[in-house]
Amino acid sequence: MRVIFLGPPGAGKGTQAAVLKGRYGLAHISTGDILRENVRSGTALGKTAKKYMDSGGLVPDDVIIAMMRERLQEPDCRSGFILDGFPRTVPQAEALDRLLEGMDITLDGVILFEIPRQLVIDRLTGRRICGSCGEIYNVSFKSTKVPGVCDRCGGELVQRDDDREEVVIRRLEVYEEQTAPLVRYYEEKGRLIRVDAGREGDRVVAAIEKAVGL
Ligand code: AMP
Repeated sequence: MRVIFLGPPGAGKGTQAAVLKGRYGLAHISTGDILRENVRSGTALGKTAKKYMDSGGLVPDDVIIAMMRERLQEPDCRSGFILDGFPRTVPQAEALDRLLEGMDITLDGVILFEIPRQLVIDRLTGRRICGSCGEIYNVSFKSTKVPGVCDRCGGELVQRDDDREEVVIRRLEVYEEQTAPLVRYYEEKGRLIRVDAGREGDRVVAAIEKAVGL
């Protein structure tokens, strides 16, 4: 299975991709995760990306496209992949088309995560992540037994810098301006599959599995 997860930040793309990765052995390629890892380890890419990420804006297309060109060559992609957070602009989508064509690969579908705006704001501003094991919580929807402490490993919960409310609002504006045009792009190619992402996670996963015939 080779699919793109498209939708606003906070729609649950990363969470559902992690479930499907575990279930079907697909590569879960999150450009946001790759960039954050580079920021953490202080690479040149991380230094370039950080200022865009902290403001809620997008990292330039040429940087992202070069990064994905390499990532898609890695062996784990051979058994299928989920692209989470890429492409995010029309030039990125066009570059991806060329990359996949060069690799003789076709996409099975583009899953559009549809979700009300206010729910996204609540999910993102309430999101907390364990700094040790990466488990994701939410102060409103999935809190920990002891506030600020991971139930699974006892690690300390942290908030992503870009989950602060003002940055979340900016990220949603950027989504509407630069990423939402991809809905039409993939609809015209007959690739778009709409999924109601405002439901519980396991129902969203089941809808995706059904849509792509897993
Ligand atoms: P995410 O975790 O997908 O919400 O990504 C976090 C941040 O990383 C975004 O707000 C962007 O600054 C940057 N980013 C992730 N993916 C892309 C992409 N495909 N194009 C440009 N910037 C990206």
